[in-house]
Amino acid sequence: MKALVYNGPKDVAIKTVPDAVIEKPTDVLVRITTTNICGSDLHMYEGRTSVEKGKILGHENMGEVIEVGDAVDRVKVGDRVVLPFNIGCGFCRNCEAGLTGFCLTTNPGSAGAAYGFAEMGPYSGGQAELLRVPYADFNCLVLPEDASEKELDYVLLSDIFPTGWHATVLSGLQPGENIVIYGAGPVGLMAALSARIQGAAGVIVVDRHPDRLKLAQKLGATVVDDSKGDHVQQILELTKGGADRGCECVGYQCHDHHGHERPNATMNDLVASVRPTGGLGVVGVFVPQDPGAEDGLAKEGKIAFDMGSFWFKGQFMRTGQANVKHYNRRLRELIHKGRAKPSEIISHELGLDEAPNAYRNFDDRKDGWTKVVLHPGQ
Ligand code: NAD
Ligand code: ZN
Repeated sequence: MKALVYNGPKDVAIKTVPDAVIEKPTDVLVRITTTNICGSDLHMYEGRTSVEKGKILGHENMGEVIEVGDAVDRVKVGDRVVLPFNIGCGFCRNCEAGLTGFCLTTNPGSAGAAYGFAEMGPYSGGQAELLRVPYADFNCLVLPEDASEKELDYVLLSDIFPTGWHATVLSGLQPGENIVIYGAGPVGLMAALSARIQGAAGVIVVDRHPDRLKLAQKLGATVVDDSKGDHVQQILELTKGGADRGCECVGYQCHDHHGHERPNATMNDLVASVRPTGGLGVVGVFVPQDPGAEDGLAKEGKIAFDMGSFWFKGQFMRTGQANVKHYNRRLRELIHKGRAKPSEIISHELGLDEAPNAYRNFDDRKDGWTKVVLHPGQ
């Protein structure tokens, strides 16, 4: 089969690799129709992780079931399915509690498993023609009859729509409150959409890319360009003293106000722009520090966080992977009933062969490249 594989920093390529196959009786095999490039893929693409050469990337996957293992009894051949990026077992303590992003079985000794990802288990990704899905009865979200018609909406259930939703939940958002969202990438835009659906009174989105800020505006947010003036001050003025809630949808690859890489920029700004006792939801990725890394600011996950301001303001913070499955059914119904149209942020639909070029443009945050969807069959 054809697949997109990691070759080294800023180097991905389409290769012919052995077909994915059923390995365990609880697996199904999916023919991928639709698979996205995510900001999370860029951690590997930019060479910040230990991902091995030859790994097939892709954790935002949708397709058609073409074969089922002997122990699969819910999912059927022909079902159109979307796959949460987390791979859960369904029976461990965390999965039973809905915390499928932290399954204790599928990536033992670490925190959670995913398709096509460094440090998240041995599973291949879905930027390929075929994908093996473990514990398939648990991990497949079966789609209704409008699966083809609403393909571009449903595929966003694999990650960014639930992740944006999760960010607002982590922040403790209640109807009638206002919220500030750092990052107008796909995840931040989905947090803005989610906050609107949940009845936020005001949504403010911070970024510096005009194309992305325009999309945030289209989703009903007030936008703040952090390259123009003191954005924290602007937020404090707009919210009369600080937003009720704040979301971090950038991660450790964030820039400072001059556009230079500065991993602690968003966390300290988030604390500063949320009111005393407000809540912070952090879904942007910060990878664990390498024990061998030098002390001080490190790409490896250690940042200069102003604990004093956070403590003094009495805020709370919740973090981590989205437990996609926990939200998936409800968000599927919002799409099915026409109450949510997350596909509005998709900028490109391309064949798999065009993926290497798409990675380059998305990584450069090239104007207009907000969210790329790949169709391996084309
Ligand atoms: P992205 O890189 O396309 O978007 C990030 C945006 O943040 C960019 O538009 C960038 O201009 C902006 N930004 C950078 N520095 C900023 C700053 N100081 N202030 C405001 N905005 C700033 O990526 P994405 O796909 O939207 O993903 C965002 C983050 O979410 C990544 O770290 C990704 O790995 C993570 N993520 C987490 C989960 C989860 O389950 N927790 C799931 C998916 C993605
Ligand atoms: Zn993703």
